[in-house]
Amino acid sequence: MTTSRRLAVALIAATALALSGCGGDGEDTPPATDGGDDGGETAEFPEGSTMARLAEAGTITVGTKFDQPLFGLVGPDGVPEGFDVEIAKLIAGELGIDEDDIEWVETPSQNRETAIENGDVDIVVATYTINDERKQRVGFAGPYYLAGQSILTLASNTDIQGPDDLSGKRVCTVSGSTPEGNLLANFPDVDVVPFGTYSECLEPLRNGQVDAVSTDNVILAGFAAESDDLEVRGDPFTEEPYGIGVAKDDVEFRMWINDVLEEIFADGRWTAAWEATAGTVLPTPEPPSVDRYED
Ligand code: GLU
Repeated sequence: MTTSRRLAVALIAATALALSGCGGDGEDTPPATDGGDDGGETAEFPEGSTMARLAEAGTITVGTKFDQPLFGLVGPDGVPEGFDVEIAKLIAGELGIDEDDIEWVETPSQNRETAIENGDVDIVVATYTINDERKQRVGFAGPYYLAGQSILTLASNTDIQGPDDLSGKRVCTVSGSTPEGNLLANFPDVDVVPFGTYSECLEPLRNGQVDAVSTDNVILAGFAAESDDLEVRGDPFTEEPYGIGVAKDDVEFRMWINDVLEEIFADGRWTAAWEATAGTVLPTPEPPSVDRYED
């Protein structure tokens, strides 16, 4: 709602109050701001909700990746860029929060649940796969993108063309990630080498300490796009639906983010965010369907 519209609503309410001659004791007169339902600031959110709290504060703390090209990569100015970052900005915008008022916090894969549980972040948008195990600890709005696990090797490597070629190989991935879990559970012959972030896998790959890096196809595509010596191999071999992590019990906030996602899927803002970031390297997909699961 514009300021003049808000003012008009307040004036009408005040005039009605004056004309009716009430406002005295015992009268249950609603506050003037309750009338707004289409874009007023905090007045549009239920009292006591996370949305109202954040809108009132005018700031939101977002956990994202700082080292993943296309999704979350800190630029020279210290501010992250990428598709996840754009999604977070759109959510913040719906709360009336300017992108300059977002506090960005790096949340590597193994820290995401803890960061949410501790209240260190309000949301996590960080190539974060929705799964049942994580749902024991956090809530997920979304999905807002569907990725899949894949493999990165040196372009000069001819041995590894897909997951079946990983037996006996040293494969770098990240602690606490779903690709790590998948390799440990389903690839017993792979020597899994875990690091803290995916960018930390690149040096060992280049100096031959590991034979491949494995995580989501779109993360690997970001690294490969930056360096001619790296290539993504084979088709994705898992499903990694990306969700927005929130506090487990905050169903109201989760559902509100789902509403925002459905809105930006429908009005083109999601596609524009994709095309400005990951879409510079990857094809533009159709938006997925959100999953409003019940606990
Ligand atoms: N999407 C996977 C996950 O959430 C891998 C990417 C990542 O570690 O951020 O574990």
